[in-house]
Amino acid sequence: MSISDSITSLHGVGPKKAKALEKLKIRTVEDFLSYYPRDYQDRRHPKPIKELVEDETALICGKISLMVRGGYRGRKRTLKLLVTDETGGIEVIFFNASYLEKSFNRENEYEFYGKVTSRAGRLQMLHPEYNQKQPDEQGEILPVYPLTQGITQSDFRKWQRLALSYIDEIVDYMPEDIISRNRLCSLRYAIENIHFPKDSRKVREARFRLVFDELFLLQLGLLSIKYRIKENDAGIAFSTEHKTRDFVRALPFELTGAQKRVLDEIEKDMEESRVMNRLVQGDVGSGKTVVAAAAAYKAIKCGYQAVMMAPTELLARQHYDSLKGMFEGFNINVGLLTGSMTKLQRTKIYKQVEDGTIHFLIGTHALIQPEVKYFNVGLVITDEQHRFGVNQRSLLSAKGHNPDVLVMTATPIPRTLAVILYGDLDHSAIDEMPAGRKPILTKALSEKSRNKAYEFLRSQVKEGRQAYIVTPLIEESENIDAKSAEQVYEEALERFPEFEVRLLHGNMKQSEKDVVMEEFYSGKADILVSTVVIEVGINVPNATVMLIENAERFGLAALHQLRGRVGRGEHQSYCLLITDTKSELAKERAAVMEQTNDGFAIAEKDLELRGPGEFFGVRQHGVPELRIADLSKHLRILHTVRKEADSLLEKDPFLSLPEHRPLKEKLGKLFENTNIINL
Ligand code: ADP
Ligand code: MG
Repeated sequence: MSISDSITSLHGVGPKKAKALEKLKIRTVEDFLSYYPRDYQDRRHPKPIKELVEDETALICGKISLMVRGGYRGRKRTLKLLVTDETGGIEVIFFNASYLEKSFNRENEYEFYGKVTSRAGRLQMLHPEYNQKQPDEQGEILPVYPLTQGITQSDFRKWQRLALSYIDEIVDYMPEDIISRNRLCSLRYAIENIHFPKDSRKVREARFRLVFDELFLLQLGLLSIKYRIKENDAGIAFSTEHKTRDFVRALPFELTGAQKRVLDEIEKDMEESRVMNRLVQGDVGSGKTVVAAAAAYKAIKCGYQAVMMAPTELLARQHYDSLKGMFEGFNINVGLLTGSMTKLQRTKIYKQVEDGTIHFLIGTHALIQPEVKYFNVGLVITDEQHRFGVNQRSLLSAKGHNPDVLVMTATPIPRTLAVILYGDLDHSAIDEMPAGRKPILTKALSEKSRNKAYEFLRSQVKEGRQAYIVTPLIEESENIDAKSAEQVYEEALERFPEFEVRLLHGNMKQSEKDVVMEEFYSGKADILVSTVVIEVGINVPNATVMLIENAERFGLAALHQLRGRVGRGEHQSYCLLITDTKSELAKERAAVMEQTNDGFAIAEKDLELRGPGEFFGVRQHGVPELRIADLSKHLRILHTVRKEADSLLEKDPFLSLPEHRPLKEKLGKLFENTNIINL
């Protein structure tokens, strides 16, 4: 029998239970051991009944001095117990009780664990957990596991005790020096004590070790990609003769300090022979595109092709339009390639890309299709990186011979998280807005003030501005009273007969979308009613109103992205959030939006309000799930593991030293489904 055996080798786990556990991704005994409790019940010290107070969850211990079969509640008979200890008595009630009666008798002592409620001034416990107290039994601290259908808390506890008998097979993969430097307890000790701790200090020690390990392995996995690139591949050293400043000089505006700084960082990377892997984070409107364009200019002038991949057709097209304009005077050919182009159009582009006629190719996923062959890609740019997985990024890179990689994102990810998510990249931040931008004024309104919001919108459009109205995406099956884009569109048509109103949503054909967007870009359409398809990157400087319906259904990051669609020109812009909810979270979000325009501040707040789950929820990152670490709480540990992982890889980039073999195996298992690490 071994720890990697199926979970069914534990006594009591049959095929049915195994299937339920499968939902929790528990397949082997080892998986089971790393399914950690979410909480504990301290069963060591029963509380004197006299001291119980309403609303607390408590353990009591006493005898049953009265047992009464009560009336029916629906079809279920209630059972009332009067439980007493030396200090007093309390009523304990079970609703579905016929079968319970036989479980209790007056001779024995019982423990009850549950929430204390009150009814007509008297304290009660409804449906507590209970068990018979053995004469000289020591109370213990019991784990509380996150449950799944078909498995009870006591199942978990019972099996976990069985699983722990395999503990000697656990291999501690952590290098000795890291253990001693960070005063980690042993892995076996940690696993034993995370499940059945003797006291709270042991839980802390155990948790520290497990959190440390989880973050460390994650960091190590991500960083090893970076080290692999560094060690393995000599990239292109772009000539120092062609400078980005030649391109920048021709721009109609001066770069911000932040843009200059970031561009310097990029240029330095490009001139070095090591492969560049750089993430440029910058709030919406901070001017990432020109920075990327300047880098492309340098690559092209040095004799290479550049490619830029965007997540949507809309965005690709927009980049194409604006970049084409920027490169006009430089004798640089810019091309566009998207999935919706005709075969004929595509074939023409393929040819020009292969023979090098096109210097700068912009497009969607179409860029990484096997049939696209490049002449010589030297620089690869992805926009809105969070939409792409690590895999797609590397597919694009594979189109050239170790090209430099520039990754741009406007999704404000808290710096702390960025370290984890993009551990394989160097970072630059454009943390300054171009001069003269007026901060967007944001106002949260209740459903009652909806009319006011729409009238305000009318006044802006009357002055010649344009406006967005955004509604949440609604799945047919969802039984939620949110306004659908079509409904809002009908309403707007009726309300604004004097304006041109258009509708845009994800189910429209590409050609229809194009027409609508074209009309909005050109100013022919005044108001665009849309689902979140406009979220990313759209640039219409004349638009000054962003009205968001059912704003409670958007996370902070999404709201901020949407708001970034306005405030892109010379006019004062506004964001109106219509929220019809009593939820505290929604109110707090609205307040944050009213108070700040800073994407990074908003991201930090988002992390605090909803936890990091959402950031990691996007499975395309290819990052294993965190089970015990919480990035909003464990920042100090995160910094420590980062350093440890760095110095370990510095010494042994491929983890090929014999003492690192267990670590390498562990890492391989952890990342096996992501195929980003083929160690
Ligand atoms: P994002 O970072 O959201 O991709 P863009 O690159 O689309 O931002 O830039 C937004 C707008 O700001 C564009 O119209 C761009 O031409 C303009 N812009 C960029 N940098 C500057 C600058 N330094 N000064 C003035 N306008 C700028
Ligand atoms: Mg952009």
